[in-house]
Amino acid sequence: MKYISIIGSTGSIGTQTLDIVRSNKDLKVTALAAGTSIDLLEKQAREFQPSIVAVYNEQKAEELKLRLADTNIKVCAGMDGLLEAATQEQCSVVVTAIVGMIGIRPTIAAMKAGKDIALANKETLVTAGHIIMPMAEELGVSIYPVDSEHSAIFQCLQSGKRDDLDSLIITASGGPFRKKTTEELKHVTASLASSWAGGAGRVSHWPSVTVEDALNHPNWSMGRKITVDSATLVNKGLEVIEAKWLFGVDFDDIHVVVQPKSVIHSMIQFKDGSVIAQLGTPDMKLPIQYALFYPQHRNLAGERLDFAKLKEITFEEPPVDVLKGLPYAYKAGRIGGSMPTVLNAANEKAVALFLDRKIQFLDIYDIIEDTMNAHKVIENPTLEEVLETEQWVYEHIESR
Ligand code: NDP
Repeated sequence: MKYISIIGSTGSIGTQTLDIVRSNKDLKVTALAAGTSIDLLEKQAREFQPSIVAVYNEQKAEELKLRLADTNIKVCAGMDGLLEAATQEQCSVVVTAIVGMIGIRPTIAAMKAGKDIALANKETLVTAGHIIMPMAEELGVSIYPVDSEHSAIFQCLQSGKRDDLDSLIITASGGPFRKKTTEELKHVTASLASSWAGGAGRVSHWPSVTVEDALNHPNWSMGRKITVDSATLVNKGLEVIEAKWLFGVDFDDIHVVVQPKSVIHSMIQFKDGSVIAQLGTPDMKLPIQYALFYPQHRNLAGERLDFAKLKEITFEEPPVDVLKGLPYAYKAGRIGGSMPTVLNAANEKAVALFLDRKIQFLDIYDIIEDTMNAHKVIENPTLEEVLETEQWVYEHIESR
């Protein structure tokens, strides 16, 4: 039996992890945690019977405690609750399916308690990779990537020696706006009811791109924040920084290529020029399951690739002049120190403003650029400095 805790169990990755638990009888959930979604959390708790359920929002935690009063499940609250869920005694793997930098402390607590990490939370390595990776080595715990691109690279790496690795080739779908011009994206009006994909309300001279369009990813079904990040290509940029830490590769040796159908999930090139790719249908359950059962490739129900139907796999250069997420990420990553935190936090805030329909799509880039320009870099920041930098970013953006 393998015991797992899921931090962020009510989200896209969290619920898909629970699907995997449903179909693997040798997985048992020991703790679940979420921010506020107590209706779903209650259902999950009743179905999976963990020993701990944590809710970040204290008021909601009180409410859930009352609702679960007829069970033996302990309900805890706030950051302390998340830390308790991440360090639950029996568990051996913690799935970090929580969104945002709030995921860093539970991850560190889990590692210090000797747990392996199935890492979905991008922000952990982007902002604190310089702390997390040496800590994992020192503590002898493993970090298994859940993100499909990093899982692909991890799977490809099983075919050869780490010392023979030359470079990583991360694939990108390009998101819903990969063919748009800056001029078209200027007309993104978040509040416009007429959706460009919507037909009836379509505007004839300029296709107006709405929040809904940014959330309409062509291949993957994901949480709202990461879907917008895919549209801006900031997500791909964050993946580049994450890959640098996970696989110890220089930014010059991490390349990104657009492969619109998301069939190739990423590739590696060895020093002799041999390229190894991992392919599959776009289904996050595959990388989640591989992270939980590495090195096994267990049975997973679902569609299989049909190459005759697929016919071709095409590649394009990323549209870096229009969707600027990648150049900002390479810049932030190369500067290093606290700059990736600035990129991440500025983007997090900007995406929240966009989803609240307070800014337009291209404003996300302006906010990132302005905040990066205003920041005085801290080299090799401590965790406290990383979190202080996040705070500085939020205050800086609000002051504007
Ligand atoms: P979702 O928005 O779908 O889910 C986020 C989860 O985090 C929810 O369970 C949410 O709880 C929880 N959460 C948010 N804030 C808090 C908090 N303060 N305390 C406790 N829990 C909290 O996100 P995704 O599942 O899409 O993504 C999760 C992470 O995985 C992100 O870092 C993302 O970048 C990464 N990732 C996601 C992929 C995907 O396919 N979705 C692919 C690769 C990586 P509540 O419901 O209560 O708000």
